[in-house]
Amino acid sequence: MTTPDPSPLLEVEKLCKHFTIFSQGLMRKPVGLVRAVDDVSFTLRRGETLGLVGESGSGKTTAVRAILRAITPTSGSVRFNIDGKSIDLAKLPDKQLKPLRTRMQMIFQDPFASLNPRMTVGEIVSEPLLIHRQAKGKEMTDRVAEILLKVGLKPEHRHRYPHAFSGGQRQRIGIARALIMRPELVVADEAVSALDVSVQAQVINLLKDLQAEFGLTYIFVAHDLSVVRHLCDRVAVMYGGRVVEIGDTEPLFTTPEHPYTRALLSAIPSIDPDERMNFGLHGEVADPAHLPPGCAFHPRCPECFHPCKSERPELLDRPEDRRVACHLYTHSPESAATARS
Ligand code: SF4
Repeated sequence: MTTPDPSPLLEVEKLCKHFTIFSQGLMRKPVGLVRAVDDVSFTLRRGETLGLVGESGSGKTTAVRAILRAITPTSGSVRFNIDGKSIDLAKLPDKQLKPLRTRMQMIFQDPFASLNPRMTVGEIVSEPLLIHRQAKGKEMTDRVAEILLKVGLKPEHRHRYPHAFSGGQRQRIGIARALIMRPELVVADEAVSALDVSVQAQVINLLKDLQAEFGLTYIFVAHDLSVVRHLCDRVAVMYGGRVVEIGDTEPLFTTPEHPYTRALLSAIPSIDPDERMNFGLHGEVADPAHLPPGCAFHPRCPECFHPCKSERPELLDRPEDRRVACHLYTHSPESAATARS
C-alpha cells in the first residue's frame, strides 16, 4: 500500500506577472507597468478545491495563467509536487514543461468558443492524447468512450460536432477533453458562468463527482460567490493583483475579515436578514496600471485609517488557518477601533 503524499500539490510563492506599457511610435519606450499579479502566495492541498474570487480586473485569470505557464511569470515560484519531486513551473524551460502539461489542465468559461466547430467530439476529446503521444488506435477510442461516459455523455456522441449539443453538454465535452489526460490539477476558469442556473448545478455536481473519483485538485476561478461557497473547501480573495484574504470557505463566508471580502459578500442576495451584511462596494476596481499607494483598496474602503494610504499591508496569519492583508489586524486595537467607529 502506498502512503499518501502529505505535501501540498502546489506551492505558489511571491508570484508576479507584470506587463510593461510602451509608448506609441517608432521609438517605443517603456512608460508604465501593469501589475496584473503582484506577490501572490498560497498553497493548494491535494484533493481540495480552492476558489479564486474577486471583481473583473482583480488578477484571478492572469494568476492562474501564470501558474499553468500559459504565460511566463515575471518572478516568483510555482512548486508542483508530483512523483516525489518538487518542480518549479515558473522557471522550467519549455521542453521540460511539455510533459508536465498533461498533469495540469484547464476548463474554460465559454464551452462553445473553446471547442473547434470543425472537429468532431471524438477529435476534440482525443486531441491531447495525440499531441502528447499517449494513446492511438483502439486504446484512444476506448479512452474517449470511457471519459464521455464519465462526464454523462454517450460514446456515440464522438461522431457529432459541437453545434449539435446544448451549452451544458458542450461544457461536459470541455471537461472530458481536460480529464482524458488524467491530470492532477484542474483549473476551471469561470467554467459554469455561461450556463443556466439549473445546468450550472448539474455541472458543479459532475465536477464534484469527478473530483472524488479521480482525486482531482481544483482551482475554481469565479465571480459567483454562491457557487464558490457550494463547491470550494477554501477561498482566496484577490484585489489589485494580490491575495487579500484566504481561508476555509465557511468561516470566511460567515466571518469575513478583510473589508473587501465583506463588501463582496454583501452583494450576495440572502433570504435571511441576519445574514445580510451592511457593507457596500462603491467606486471602480483598482486599475493595475495605476495602483494606489499603500493598500490598493483604500480609496473604496469604509474602514481606511491612517496607515492605509502609505503602507502596503502584508498577508499575515490569523486564527483558524486564515490569512489577511489589512492594517486593521496589525495596528493597535485603538487604531482599529477608531477606524471602525
Ligand atoms: Fe481598508 Fe486599510 Fe484594511 Fe486596506 S488596509 S482594507 S484600506 S482598513
